[in-house]
Amino acid sequence: MTEVLSVLRIGHRPSRDKRVTTHAALVARAFGADDIVISTRDPEIEKTISSVVSRFGGRFEIRSGIPWNEALRSWGGTKVHLTMYGTPFREAMPKLRGKDVMVVIGAEKVPPAIYQMVDFNLSVGSQPHSEIAALALFLDSYFEGSEDTNKFDDARLQIIPNSRGKTVVERGDEIHQ
Ligand code: SAM
Repeated sequence: MTEVLSVLRIGHRPSRDKRVTTHAALVARAFGADDIVISTRDPEIEKTISSVVSRFGGRFEIRSGIPWNEALRSWGGTKVHLTMYGTPFREAMPKLRGKDVMVVIGAEKVPPAIYQMVDFNLSVGSQPHSEIAALALFLDSYFEGSEDTNKFDDARLQIIPNSRGKTVVERGDEIHQ
């Protein structure tokens, strides 16, 4: 059995955070997470991400409108909160790899209770930056840089790396350059 990595996005405001939360979901999917749970309901983001999954493959799931405290309480594995105030994430990583982990990322203000509910409050550098950057670095370290394996082999559209142009293969079709 392989480990499950879930991302919990809290504090999403559909009117202001659409782009950032969409990017957090795309980063979660591209760099190895199994799903993202968004505490605020946002059917538009669900639709956008589901469309990416249907075209670019993998089994990534998205759910929105799940209260964060419910999501955390029902998680049976290790709970990690990414915050600039936490302890350095690389120190905790050996205790996390291979385990089921829920990674919490915030938006503007994180409820103080989160700090108590999780097993680890971890920082990706003790400076303020972005939940997208923090998540990307965390996932890269957790999966030890192996996120680009065979997860997306079932894709309808596959991107073939190209040093100059764009090469996309549509399943059952020839190469488009
Ligand atoms: N000021 C907010 C607070 O104190 O909770 C944080 C706002 S920050 C723009 C949004 C999210 O980015 C945070 O909730 C956290 O998940 C993440 N983040 C920002 N800097 C971070 C860092 N150095 N390490 C880990 N996560 C960070």
